[in-house]
Amino acid sequence: MKVEIIPVTPFQQNCSIIICSETNRAAIVDPGGEVERLVDRIDALGVTLEKILITHAHIDHAGGTKDLADKLDLPIEGPQQEDIFWIDRLSDQSRMFQFPEAKPFVPTRWLEHDDTVTVGNLTFDVKHCPGHTPGHVVFINHENKLAWVGDVLFKGSMGRTDFPRGDHQTLIDSIHSSLMTLPDDYQFISGHGDISTIGHERQTNPYIR
Ligand SMILES: [Zn+2]
Repeated sequence: MKVEIIPVTPFQQNCSIIICSETNRAAIVDPGGEVERLVDRIDALGVTLEKILITHAHIDHAGGTKDLADKLDLPIEGPQQEDIFWIDRLSDQSRMFQFPEAKPFVPTRWLEHDDTVTVGNLTFDVKHCPGHTPGHVVFINHENKLAWVGDVLFKGSMGRTDFPRGDHQTLIDSIHSSLMTLPDDYQFISGHGDISTIGHERQTNPYIR
């Protein structure tokens, strides 16, 4: 597995390209914007993009989904269905944050807790982690001990819960049940900021201790 992180939008959201080294097939996680730049990078990497994975439908994570899916004829997997109200509000979100116009999309596949998704020969466990948004999902690859956690957990912090249908205790519960159950040496990629490990957060994150 190879991973390339490309921060997109003024919010510097960590869009990831996940590449299966065996098949050269790839998925893109959370294409929040800058679709032309992402397509150029996919071309330069010479990989076959097979799907879009979405953790949650905030604009900086999902704003480019419709354009990218249409441009490259890609299926969209995720988020969990409770995020449909955020998908429907993508256009409003783009105006609110003065982003380029973002269009709503229809996921090819809604994801549920304990589903799996594949990228080439790679497999990812899906965990439904509500609290930041009600339909937020995370993706965990056990073989490489790496997780994509969107805006659930950050190095030294956790996601905001002051948006509509956000809930602090629900997010804490999600972190404990789906992420803190992972071994210490698992790394995670957040929607913003640095990579960290589960062990580092268990030791130092004030929201978790
Ligand atoms: Zn978010």
